[in-house]
Amino acid sequence: MDNHSYDVVIIGGGPAGLSAGLYTSRARLDSLLIEKGLWGGQIANVEQIENFPGFPDGIGGFELGQLMQQQAAKYGLKTVSGQVTAIELHGEQKIIKTTEGDFTAKVVIIAGGSERQKLGVPGEEKFTGKGVSYCATCDAAFFRDRPVAIAGGGNSAITEALHLSRYASKVTIIHRRHQLRATSILQERALAEPKIAFLWDTVVEKIEGEDFVKRLRLRQLLTGEESTLEVAGIFVAIGFQPDTDYLKAILPLDETGHIITNEKMETAIPGILAAGDIRHNSARQAITAAGDGATAAIYAERFLTEH
Ligand code: NAP
Repeated sequence: MDNHSYDVVIIGGGPAGLSAGLYTSRARLDSLLIEKGLWGGQIANVEQIENFPGFPDGIGGFELGQLMQQQAAKYGLKTVSGQVTAIELHGEQKIIKTTEGDFTAKVVIIAGGSERQKLGVPGEEKFTGKGVSYCATCDAAFFRDRPVAIAGGGNSAITEALHLSRYASKVTIIHRRHQLRATSILQERALAEPKIAFLWDTVVEKIEGEDFVKRLRLRQLLTGEESTLEVAGIFVAIGFQPDTDYLKAILPLDETGHIITNEKMETAIPGILAAGDIRHNSARQAITAAGDGATAAIYAERFLTEH
């Protein structure tokens, strides 16, 4: 246990957490940020980010995450690598339990983001890492000149399909409706890409193979017709779920497990704030997460002044 008591402990090193850390450090608050993976969180796996203001030619997500961390560290943000397992309330102090020991703080900003949603079909778990992937930027190169599929119809699915089309022989997007959720500019690019094909109103029912994925069993939802698609891999991009199981006992969550906050990013517990994708009704963009983080830091500072 680290006997030191911080002013602020921030959970998560994505755009929300690192922006919060930048603001709390510049406010001269004694701040520690805990991150379990890469700086940038989800954006670390995004090849190119085109909608973060200030980068007219876009910027690699990994690079943006690194730059955000460097900027916060420059003003004194301390960081530790580890996973948070629980938060305990001891009067006005909060004890943040992690795989690397316990930390104490007066204020906690939860910015842990969310993780890829699973399809929940037979074969998905068995073939994860053997043809089933949740990150095209990480794994696309393994599928050079081979056919792959993507499940999903949102911005992630289309961005990843476009990335995969540079490697794979063919990319089949399997979407459960007949209309994409992705933004128009991405739709236009995907529809114009000859290597990308679409299967509409269709779901994956089973992933099959031997050592690696070989085929998908599909069902057309309108006709009920079943079919088989031969692929070397499937990328699952059907949204995200928040990592909030460890918070259930202390915080009110919405029906999908996201943390409920007010417009100041305050939760129901004084001194615990939440920012970014982990929040109920988040717009789920790097830029809005960064804004949430800054807002949370400003109200964290106000809380500390008043308590
Ligand atoms: P999303 O926007 O929630 O889209 C999820 C997609 O998966 C939807 O098309 C949904 O179908 C489908 N889906 C959900 N559950 C399913 C299931 N069980 N089986 C089959 N299909 C299922 O998630 P996302 O695309 O990961 O994007 C998450 C957030 O990140 C969004 O806010 C997005 O804008 C943002 N993002 C932005 C960019 C960018 O700006 N370039 C890139 C990536 C992500 P329905 O359409 O029928 O609901």
